[in-house]
Amino acid sequence: MNILVTGGSGFIGSALIRHILTKTDHNVVNVDNLTYAANQSSVLLANHFKSRYRFEKVDICDKKEILRVFETHQPDYVMNLAAESHVDNSILDPSQFVATNINGTFNLLENARSYFDKLDPENKKSFRFLHVSTDEVFGDLDGTKEKFTEITRYNPSSPYSASKAASDHLVKAWWRTYELPILLTNCSNNYGPYQFREKLIPHMIFNALKGEPLPIYGDGLQIRDWLYVDDHVDALMHILKFGVIGETYNIGGNNEKTNFEVVNIICDNLELSLIKKPKNTKYFRDLIKHVEDRPGHDLRYAIDASKLEQDLEWKPNETFDTGIIKTIDWYITNKDWLVE
Ligand code: NAD
Repeated sequence: MNILVTGGSGFIGSALIRHILTKTDHNVVNVDNLTYAANQSSVLLANHFKSRYRFEKVDICDKKEILRVFETHQPDYVMNLAAESHVDNSILDPSQFVATNINGTFNLLENARSYFDKLDPENKKSFRFLHVSTDEVFGDLDGTKEKFTEITRYNPSSPYSASKAASDHLVKAWWRTYELPILLTNCSNNYGPYQFREKLIPHMIFNALKGEPLPIYGDGLQIRDWLYVDDHVDALMHILKFGVIGETYNIGGNNEKTNFEVVNIICDNLELSLIKKPKNTKYFRDLIKHVEDRPGHDLRYAIDASKLEQDLEWKPNETFDTGIIKTIDWYITNKDWLVE
């Protein structure tokens, strides 16, 4: 099969491409316009799979280029991960979020629709458009018990989550109106190797290794549900294969932690590691510093992934305790990744 992956040089997209190349026989086309969040070293391994990997430096908003990509590579599956993904950036300047996340998804859907309409009946049966989205579209939860299900009402808080919510609505409408065979996934916070250092976990490891303050927004009691990136990718491939067309699947790993807990776990693991401590740092925990909270900061996200577990019989491999050790080890061994 030919899989067209958008955003394949980003954090999750590159993990997906590494998975496709090493664990399947599929061909993969990576469509990425290489924003600041992309890093080609995360797909360096593709050099060993030259006959099965193609790279297209293309903006998903570019109508002509996306048409050319579809015509050239004849995808059997499209997996849409290209996005502006950092909430803080969306607060500072939402315009690129609207452009990529909404208009870019619209452009992909329109191209996929006209491409799909021309496919022969056999290829029509297998074609899928899988849109990768986030649990942030649901807004936040106040209690400690309730979780997001696939039918929770959308209630986004930030320009990032609002733009992702809009793209999800477009994807669902293209199924309902045009019968484009879509699958939609909403996943919790990811962590793991090759994540850009603007995000919480690499940012904290980076600062700790330099002996710099570990800034935590507000009281740090915001709860996030964490999933190791390879588990997310594994779930996406599973849903691509077994998911029911037109359906949404929540992906999560039942790993709720406050941001404060996450940073403390990182500090404790760094204490146990053999790395040389930065000057003037006695304990990594001493570097923790509370800073002014993010505007509109969501309190709690929690995913109910029982539909995926029961209907498609999928479960994650990692717990937070196992995944975070792998992650910290990776950043310690790949210090260059964290250098500015
Ligand atoms: P990322 O920011 O690390 O990577 C995004 C990639 O998309 C980059 O390589 C970037 O160059 C590319 N891109 C951006 N705009 C583009 C455009 N206009 N045209 C082509 N390529 C473009 O993001 P990520 O963390 O890997 O997230 C991937 C997807 O997964 C996003 O859709 C995000 O909303 C979703 N998601 C992320 C998380 C998470 O915790 N990171 C959780 C759930 C869902």
